[in-house]
Amino acid sequence: MLDIVIRNGRIVDGTGLPAFHGDLGIAGGRLSRVGGQLPASARQVIDAGGQVVAPGFIDPHTHFDAQLLWDGQARPALEHGVTTVVHGNCSLSLAPLKAEHRPRLVKMFQQIEEMPDAAFDGAFQWAWEGFADYLAALRGRVALNVAPLAGHTPLRMWVMGADAHKRAAKPDEIRAMQDLLRACLEAGAVGLSTSYVDMDENLAPVPSRYAHSEELDALAAVLGEFGRMLQVVPEFYSTDVTVARVDQLAELSLAHGIPTTFSPLFDSSAVPDNVPRVLERVAEQFARGARVWPQVQTRPIDISFSLDMASLYFIQLPMWYMILRMPRAQKLALLRNDGTRKGLIDAAEPGGDTSRFARLRVRDSHDASLIGRMLGEIAAERGTTPAGALLDLSLEEDLGVHFLAASMGHEDPSRIGPLLANDLVHVGASDGGAHIQSFATYGDTGYLFSEFVRAGRYLSLEHAVRKITGDTAQIWGLPGRGLLRPGMAADVVIFDPDTIARGDERPAHDMPEGGMRYVRGARGVDTVIVNGAVTWSATGGYTDARPGVITSA
Ligand SMILES: [Zn+2]
Repeated sequence: MLDIVIRNGRIVDGTGLPAFHGDLGIAGGRLSRVGGQLPASARQVIDAGGQVVAPGFIDPHTHFDAQLLWDGQARPALEHGVTTVVHGNCSLSLAPLKAEHRPRLVKMFQQIEEMPDAAFDGAFQWAWEGFADYLAALRGRVALNVAPLAGHTPLRMWVMGADAHKRAAKPDEIRAMQDLLRACLEAGAVGLSTSYVDMDENLAPVPSRYAHSEELDALAAVLGEFGRMLQVVPEFYSTDVTVARVDQLAELSLAHGIPTTFSPLFDSSAVPDNVPRVLERVAEQFARGARVWPQVQTRPIDISFSLDMASLYFIQLPMWYMILRMPRAQKLALLRNDGTRKGLIDAAEPGGDTSRFARLRVRDSHDASLIGRMLGEIAAERGTTPAGALLDLSLEEDLGVHFLAASMGHEDPSRIGPLLANDLVHVGASDGGAHIQSFATYGDTGYLFSEFVRAGRYLSLEHAVRKITGDTAQIWGLPGRGLLRPGMAADVVIFDPDTIARGDERPAHDMPEGGMRYVRGARGVDTVIVNGAVTWSATGGYTDARPGVITSA
């Protein structure tokens, strides 16, 4: 007998081929039948009612490394239809890591990925050092599949200790890193991640940035033994340097026979030739036979913040940023100090230019009449400047007011739509589970359908599904996933193509110890199945099932 029969579905199988009507049979965690009419004699029958039945979505750029240890459902990613996540991106992973290096690495996670202390402190039992033992800690705990990357930064820390933060590696250290990476790949890592951008808590380069090209080449050679992925954060703020990184990745891809991917690639009206120039070079390198996948996110760059935390929104205002990083009591005292206040306002509004904060909107406040209003207007009413109003409103509500900086880039659908549809573009880069106090990194898949399939018609339904299922599995080499085919893993999402969307962003206090993050729920998603078990449904919510596996194992 079949475990699950999904009847009456509009099957979009992940290949990009036209949808067709039929049933889906699941047995033993795998798809047994796709299409046709199946008898209703199954342990569970789900009537799709003509909704889309598609492979579960695969998110190739997340930072759920720590969250998975206390929340194996990676909420709320799962309810958006995500059934597999790649984590360990951007040079950071929780293994391999010696116990003595934990505090340093946690500080980097907190700085780069904006995660609170409580995400690491006591939220889980940290018993592993090696990669295999980290994966063992995830087994049986996860509701979705995980495809873990090994981070270049902890590899260096393991081999070089404090010198990882200071210098290039010597030949014997490079050989030791190669052995360590090989052990990670044998244990189930799907590749290596590195970064040319990120900074630690002292705003010094992370260890991966001290590597010379010989070191990365040697590590890529080990990836080549397994045909595994190299993920890179390039200097995305500079088109010229990004183009050079595309060339470097292409050389590594060709020399070692590996796929490579870089993220993010942002579009911006301020630098309109950035994406065209990078894509042109990507196309040249694909034509040479290299694999250099640019990852492009679907959502615009919206940043939310309150002065209760040190948001990346202030990274270009060092005085603000340093004060916002201070302990709360010290921070409040400084924000109330007249001299400091004047310094902050001068820094944000040099020469009386008030444009920086004027278009911020109030996102959340005890005073409902303020919500949605622009800070420039509120400041004018109060006879102050936008920076003054930002400080006043925040202090009036004990730093509880949230602000939204909307559409800071990557926001023009007529430019993003064709980009997402491009065959050379890898749709991803959600950063799921990171930057949790700046924006909700969930629901990019729903946004792909609402904005670029339904509203803009840049992609067909089948094309959009293929982009985040079959293509992703193929690019990353995730065997047995990404398509609805007999014998493949039964990762399935049922959704309404007319309503699927991301819900509204809202602050939630659901981190360990009540910590705040921004989240958003899903719209139009009906049922999420992982390896043949229902993990979430619109009617029943999250289930107790923990069917997720390490995908490479
Ligand atoms: Zn990242």
